[in-house]
Amino acid sequence: MEQDYQQWFLSKDNQSVRTYKQLMNQSIEMISNYYETIEKPYHHWELEDRFEHFNDEMTFKENGRAFAELKKSIEQLVLRHSLHISHTGAMAHLHCPPAIPALVAEVFITALNQSMDSWDQSPIATYIEDAVIKECVKQIGYEETASGVFTSGGTQSNYMGMLLARNDYCKRKLKANVQEEGLPPEANKLRIFCSEKAHFTVQQSAAQLGLGMNAVIPVKTNERYEMCMDDLCAKVELSKESGELPMAIVATIGTTDFGSIDSLHDIHQLAATYDMWIHADAAYGGGLLFSKANRHLVQELKLADSITIDFHKWFYQPISCGAFFVKAETAFQHIQLYADYLNPEEDEHLHLVNRSIQTTKRFDALKVWLTFQMMGTSAFGKLIDQTIQNARQLAGYLQENSMVKVMNEPMMNAVVFKYQCKRIAKSAENQKYIENKINTMIQQQLYEKGTYIIAKTKVNQEACLKVTMLNPMIELENLKQLIKEVIQLGNELEQKEEALRECATIS
Ligand SMILES: *Cc1c(COP(=O)(O)O)cnc(C)c1O
Repeated sequence: MEQDYQQWFLSKDNQSVRTYKQLMNQSIEMISNYYETIEKPYHHWELEDRFEHFNDEMTFKENGRAFAELKKSIEQLVLRHSLHISHTGAMAHLHCPPAIPALVAEVFITALNQSMDSWDQSPIATYIEDAVIKECVKQIGYEETASGVFTSGGTQSNYMGMLLARNDYCKRKLKANVQEEGLPPEANKLRIFCSEKAHFTVQQSAAQLGLGMNAVIPVKTNERYEMCMDDLCAKVELSKESGELPMAIVATIGTTDFGSIDSLHDIHQLAATYDMWIHADAAYGGGLLFSKANRHLVQELKLADSITIDFHKWFYQPISCGAFFVKAETAFQHIQLYADYLNPEEDEHLHLVNRSIQTTKRFDALKVWLTFQMMGTSAFGKLIDQTIQNARQLAGYLQENSMVKVMNEPMMNAVVFKYQCKRIAKSAENQKYIENKINTMIQQQLYEKGTYIIAKTKVNQEACLKVTMLNPMIELENLKQLIKEVIQLGNELEQKEEALRECATIS
């Protein structure tokens, strides 16, 4: 009986390690084979027809089966129909091809399965995470009194930023201890300011923190989609005058669509006047910290009270991997709780749960550590710059083509553009409607075709296309082909639309 369990867990037992090696090697083999022959980033499947073949595979069985029997499902279902983000045709979102050193680290992370909440469950890992955080703190330019913690990503980091800002404000200004007593009666007057291009998780956080989404005041952006300082000043002032409590400003350091960067310098001056918390959402822009040519764009990050950085975006780490930083480690006191079984207050060791809103937590720091150890910060920085250069090249190329319109001059590696129709509608409003429809369809049809995976977004009610060129191996030649396909699809759709219209007028 005992024999049966050996195969499922790592141990000194011969069969145990043999099974582990065999299965891991076979899996690596399957993935490698797939990538050796990969044609396009995506093979589309329709819910109905695909699961028909695999319906039986989707139910749990009374008796287990050998891995060999399941390989077909993994290959034909999972491998074939996943989105292959490492393919150069995949450039939709802030979704990165994972770096190989990080994939190697994942093997250790999962096998060792350290839990980062208390020191006794991650005796060395705790200190490695702390060391990686300290390296990042140095890069940011924070003093040694700063701190940070790994998170599941930007959503969690932004939430933590708003949580600390709220508790800090309530404690200092309203003499209320939110953690112990809950929100004070004035809490419905608390206000957060961010640009209208900020990430939706700012509002989401406000909602979850009992402030309500309406506590977030959207600030206008300028022609480069950066927070407009005049509008921010006016809105903070107005808020104060009308008896509200402006508590925080969220600066976006790399907006999700355009990669535009709010001025932390200006925001810092205003925040100082009104004694407000600054949270910098650098989920995307954090990658610039290591850049050679573009580092100056993030040199003001150190002015923020707290910072979000996603490693699973521009640091090429497999999901999930992010971090949250604070200028003053003492800010973590706002969320500290002590459990006798986990992190008793008198313990001398570092318990990372004291900095986190998670309890059980992955040892993601190892992959950041291994990536930087293997690549070196210099090669990493060049790679970041390469992607920016690629995006600027694409924008330049698009600008020369009258069939498309570029919506931004890329600060980072995202380019937003749209297919422009010839004038086919009578009114400007109609023209806009058709153009929106056609651009939406271009994105969708490209996705189903699977050769190029790009994203869609809206700019001032206009449907646009977006490419995020995180993959440094995307070359201008790939992109020229993409643009050719976009224009071809656009032309076809336009002709169809025109034919439809003619029918409509005749009848
Ligand atoms: C991606 C992103 C987020 C959300 O981060 P997740 O890692 O997806 O949770 C927040 N802010 C910005 C600017 C982002 O680009």
